[in-house]
Amino acid sequence: MNSEVIIECKKCQKCGFLQHSSHIRCIKCKHEAFDKVKAVGNAALLTYTILKAPPAEFRDRTQYALGILEFQNHVKVLGQLAPDEQLKIGLKMKPTRKKICSNLDGKEIHEFIFVPI
Ligand SMILES: [Zn+2]
Repeated sequence: MNSEVIIECKKCQKCGFLQHSSHIRCIKCKHEAFDKVKAVGNAALLTYTILKAPPAEFRDRTQYALGILEFQNHVKVLGQLAPDEQLKIGLKMKPTRKKICSNLDGKEIHEFIFVPI
């Protein structure tokens, strides 16, 4: 399986603000034209939380971690973090494609998850 992960966000053509690709307008200036920007390099962990009551898809675990990470070109992303690692702010991580859970029909769900470098 190809484990390369491509993460993209939108860069406002007017003010240069980087934001999630789901937004229709720039959340700073309301402009509607964007360039796509790919995340480049490794990511630094900005903040994270441990979910102690995971949804049913994560029934094989008692908890999992979500974090916000910033890549070297300032693209920020929310992502799941490898569960068994010693997490700390500033930790350098990279996204890799892995099985993250099995859905309620038993199908394996593969998505990107951040692991320490
Ligand atoms: Zn803008």
